[in-house]
Amino acid sequence: MAEAKKALGRNSKKQARAAQPRTTPKAYPNYIGGEWVSSGSGEWFENVNPADTRDCVGRFPVSTARDIERAVAAARDAADKWRRLPAPRRAEILFRLGEILIRQKETFAREMTREMGKVLKETGGDVQEAIDCTYYTAGEGRRLHGFTTPAEMPDKFAMCVRQPVGLCGLITPWNFPMAIPSWKLIPALVCGNTVVIKPAEDTPLSTYNLVKSCEEVGIPAGVVNLVTGHGETVGAALTEHPSVRLISFTGSTETGRLVASSCAERNAICSLEMGGKNVIIVMEDADVDLAVEGAVWGAFGTSGQRCTASSRVVVHKKVYKKFTQQLVERAKNLRVGDGLDERTDMGPVINADALHKILGYIEVGQREDRAKLACGGRRLEKGEYAHGYFVEPTVFTDASPGMRIAQEEIFGPVTTVIPVGSLEEAIEIGNGVRYGLSASIYTQDVNRAFHAMNEMYTGIFYVNSSTIGAEVHLPFGGTKATGNGHREAGTQVLDIFTEWKSVYVDYSGKLQRAQIDEVNFE
Ligand code: ADP
Repeated sequence: MAEAKKALGRNSKKQARAAQPRTTPKAYPNYIGGEWVSSGSGEWFENVNPADTRDCVGRFPVSTARDIERAVAAARDAADKWRRLPAPRRAEILFRLGEILIRQKETFAREMTREMGKVLKETGGDVQEAIDCTYYTAGEGRRLHGFTTPAEMPDKFAMCVRQPVGLCGLITPWNFPMAIPSWKLIPALVCGNTVVIKPAEDTPLSTYNLVKSCEEVGIPAGVVNLVTGHGETVGAALTEHPSVRLISFTGSTETGRLVASSCAERNAICSLEMGGKNVIIVMEDADVDLAVEGAVWGAFGTSGQRCTASSRVVVHKKVYKKFTQQLVERAKNLRVGDGLDERTDMGPVINADALHKILGYIEVGQREDRAKLACGGRRLEKGEYAHGYFVEPTVFTDASPGMRIAQEEIFGPVTTVIPVGSLEEAIEIGNGVRYGLSASIYTQDVNRAFHAMNEMYTGIFYVNSSTIGAEVHLPFGGTKATGNGHREAGTQVLDIFTEWKSVYVDYSGKLQRAQIDEVNFE
């Protein structure tokens, strides 16, 4: 998301609200040390519906560094008690959290659609992902496996155990406003850490719902703290705080770089999950109908606002015409509208900033040589669209791999189709971007599928499926500018939220010097 934001400046949806909200905005305070409290600033920002900016979803505190200070102090105070509670007991509380999320799924999904626009089926999926993550990771309460290994000296025992890292700062984006916070929060808690969460400015309500549910199931005061507000102030204050041992961040590559340098300054652990420019490869032996299905879902699901979105499709020349005709046809027929309407296929984009950035890229695409705007390309602003941020599903065809629209993350309903003559060419183009999150291939040939799997330098790979659709029990993350080597989800996430402690127990009753003393057969 970074490139165009730099050019356009920040203009999030809260700055673009209409003068007269239809509903009386409810106030949703911060959660610090087990209390629901307003910010010391006394200021609030409005969270508006991107499908209709007259609809204000709620007011949230514009917090300050002092609020972060209080939240960090609360998390510090709770840390020892929480870490000493046996992990299976911590997990029991989290299983109860899973039950609440199941009960509230529909309500939370509706509120999420209202605050961020994606269609109800997808927000239901977002809450479901939080449920899956909760059950799966709570199960780790009875595992959190370490290991034993032989020691090199006699009468000596060697093992490795996990210990919590301590106080964790969680900074989250708006596109998966319950799933992503849960991916960080639940493992952090199972592992025995306490946390301060800073949700995205555009979607604090879904994180509020998650945290409120934590309170309801009796997670002790101070273990989970929520502070809303601007990234540049509260996000930065959290990142810079000397008591915060770890920052887990998901967002743009641009912001991730700032977070990483700030953590490096004070030697804090930092896990980053950032952008993508994901490719679907369609070979000449592919089931073209299935590939089109995957390309539509990958490009236009969540209005293209997923880090795993299929924003590039590399198609073999032998099926290129058939594929592009079908893709364009399908894109034209998608029903754009309010995500709360069951008939809607694709909702709005998140805010005015995103809207202008996406339209900016569409303009760039039209100016660049060789690409053809095959459908879409415009903002929808009449009638039912008049008060929202709607963009037509957009397909560029005949693109070349070096074009900006084929290189930079647009984070909107725009996909770019590139013709190729061979699998090797497709793989080279697939890998020829700065990101490395997800890739996919459509082919009936198992040899080609495995070859591509082996050659694509990404963190996620699909065969005969789109680039989106991660499951919580497999690691999630990417290579190159997508991340910094960590993986969320799966058991791999435990390596973010715990540190290893190697333990040696010498029961020989004498000094034994590793690497120095001889150990003989006699
Ligand atoms: P997006 O482009 O999706 O809004 P950002 O990277 O700007 O992505 O935001 C992701 C999260 O990072 C949000 O919660 C945002 O408030 C936070 N954030 C933004 N700037 C900073 C910063 N300088 N330090 C820490 N967090 C930040």
